[in-house]
Order: sequence, then structure tokens, then C-alpha cells
Amino acid sequence: MPELVFFSGTMDCGKSTLALQIEHNRSARGLQGIIFTRDDRAGEGKLSSRLGLVTDAVEVEDGRDLYAYIVDHLSRGGRADYVIADEAQFLAPQQIDQLARVVDDLGLDVYAFGITTDFRTKLFPGSQRLVELADRVEVLQVEALCWCGARATHNARTIGGEMVVEGAQVVVGDVNQADAVGYEVLCRRHHLRRMTAAGARAAALSPDVLPVQPA
Ligand SMILES: [Zn+2]
Repeated sequence: MPELVFFSGTMDCGKSTLALQIEHNRSARGLQGIIFTRDDRAGEGKLSSRLGLVTDAVEVEDGRDLYAYIVDHLSRGGRADYVIADEAQFLAPQQIDQLARVVDDLGLDVYAFGITTDFRTKLFPGSQRLVELADRVEVLQVEALCWCGARATHNARTIGGEMVVEGAQVVVGDVNQADAVGYEVLCRRHHLRRMTAAGARAAALSPDVLPVQPA
């Protein structure tokens, strides 16, 4: 049975690497996929992983009907054995519905990869719809780690190194960016305390946290 599978996780947990691995394994078997992505770090129409691999993809704009795109591709004699949707958190809920229709009406497997929650710990609309509709949700096993060593479950946005909790839901950036908008993965405890790695280093060096001698 074809399936809609949602591979979810934090930033930096290897989602795109797994997407590329799935693509590689299937194309090595002679299968052809359609790869959708949106706002990949390597630029428009690319699916890339932090490990340096990259492949061409179809950039999804607002309002593009993904079901119609595939039907059109097939009707022109194109081939599609499966579909990969990377950065699926950026897709609109209707586009997730279209992917479900690709599974049900066209009989193709759809593998969606996305971040579950945003920098405010709220579900992205696309990820919410995937949780609602997917046949399976797989939480990726390559775990990102917080600076404290605990499993990183949340994404923090930083501006100039400082964690922020307000702003637009989607601002494209990447992990380990010291300047401008960056992202850092944290455990829930340190996300709630807004304690990034830089914040923890600063606090450790601050005289404020040295033990006070009793008078
Ligand atoms: Zn932590």
C-alpha cells in the first residue's frame, strides 16, 4: 500500500540527508522520483544536506497545486514512482492535502520531511497537517544535541546570538550562524529558559553566578 510518511525532527537532525538517501536508494533501483522543496539552504530548486550532498528539486511556490503538478507531469509522459517533499513544514495545509491525494488517487509513496515546531515551540501549519494526515510519523533517530548534552527537541531562533521568541514564523536561516538570524537546537528545559550555548558560556563567566561569601 502506498503511504504518506512524515519524517519529523528538529533542525540539524539529518532530515535532508535521509531524504537524499531515500532518493539515492530508489534511483539506484531504477525508480524516478519527484522532489519538492522550499527555501533550501542551497538555493532555489535544490535539495541539499549539511553533509554536502545536493540534488535538483522542484521549488514549491505559494499556491502551487502539488497534485496537479504531478498529474500534469504524468500526462506529458513523465514518470513518477514516488514523491519526496523536503522542508515540508513550509508547505501550506492544502498542499499537504494534495500530497495525501497523490498517495490515495495516484498510488505513489510520498515521503515528507520537516521540522515539527517553530522557534516559539508552535507547530508549523504544514507539519500539523502532516501529523493529522500521515499514515506514519517517524521521528528521526539521528538526534541533535543541546549544548548541555541532552536530546535537542526544540528550535531556537537567535538574532546576533541572542535567543528571540517573537517574530515571523518563517525566517530563513541556518544553525550555527553567529550573525543575523540563526538557529540553535536546544532541549526543552533550555528553550524555556532561553539559554543558548553562548548564553550558558556568558553566565558561567559572569561574576553574578559566583557563590556569595556569607558576611
Ligand atoms: Zn539543554
